[in-house]
Amino acid sequence: QAKRAGKNTYRLFDARMTETMRQRMRIETALRQALANDQFSLHYQPQVDLGSGELSGVEALLRWHHPELGTVSPQVFVPVAEESGLILQIGDWVLREACLQLARWRAAGVFIPRVAVNVSANQFARPGFPERVAQVLRENALDPGSLELELTETVLMNQAREAVTTLRALKTIGVHLAIDDFGTGYSSLSYLRRFPIDRLKIDKSFLVDIERDRDNAAIAQAVIAMAETMGLEVTAEGVERDSQLELLRVHRCDEVQGFLFSRPIVPEAIPDFCQALRAITRARDEERG
Ligand code: C2E
Ligand code: MG
Ligand code: MG
Ligand code: MG
Repeated sequence: QAKRAGKNTYRLFDARMTETMRQRMRIETALRQALANDQFSLHYQPQVDLGSGELSGVEALLRWHHPELGTVSPQVFVPVAEESGLILQIGDWVLREACLQLARWRAAGVFIPRVAVNVSANQFARPGFPERVAQVLRENALDPGSLELELTETVLMNQAREAVTTLRALKTIGVHLAIDDFGTGYSSLSYLRRFPIDRLKIDKSFLVDIERDRDNAAIAQAVIAMAETMGLEVTAEGVERDSQLELLRVHRCDEVQGFLFSRPIVPEAIPDFCQALRAITRARDEERG
């Protein structure tokens, strides 16, 4: 009896595995055509300076629309792109497109201080990555400080020694470096100190219910304090409510990013966002006198 139940469970698991694998292969096959068929686009999410109330930058977030699969979330396709190696080409496209877009905004008279680009493990570990970054900046006549690269703890801790070398090369070029989803990986603090980084981005999971959840509040506060001590900037992501914003203000978080200000939006919508934000800041300043 038990044996039969076990066998059934096993079959069910088997069937599910096959379905997952089939789905994965569908995505991988479709991904191979995606660049050539122009199915990728970038959305941009504003990052706001809490002190000045001004736009400090935007994060480029990859979007994929496939004619049959529909819109696939990056949480689904980025891991597949990473495992299949396709992320190298895709990541290079993202880097180029984000820098080109920053140059386009500026050429149109909209000054966006900075664009942040997510970098995957394979991309970061690839020989010549820093040189590639320098080349893209040159092609778009951008000063290196206009670009921030977001890396996760996992990417850095995987091969910490090599990572330090690559980070130093990137720092020499002058780009900004941020650790994304901070707190979800397992950074060794001694390595963290050796990484020439500029910013920690507190993972959005720590902002969930931060008004009542004492653990989350303590973690967010500790990360902000640690960043301050280490001379790093700190950004909170996933800010959805005013009450979260107030708490972050009290703890002196530098920057925020989240649905409260804006979801990731198409590049054409960014100038309007800038105008709206400026109007809010002006009104606030006038109120204060
Ligand atoms: P991430 O880099 O941590 O990006 C932040 C994610 O949080 C984005 O999800 C964004 O839409 C979402 N988010 C922002 N504010 C809020 C909020 O207030 N509430 C909630 N619930 N979510 C918020 P998205 O665009 O689905 O991207 C998911 C992940 O996919 C990214 O996380 C990043 O790890 C990866 N990804 C996206 N674009 C790229 C890319 O160009 N290259 C690489 N390597 N990875 C990318
Ligand atoms: Mg990111
Ligand atoms: Mg993140
Ligand atoms: Mg600070």
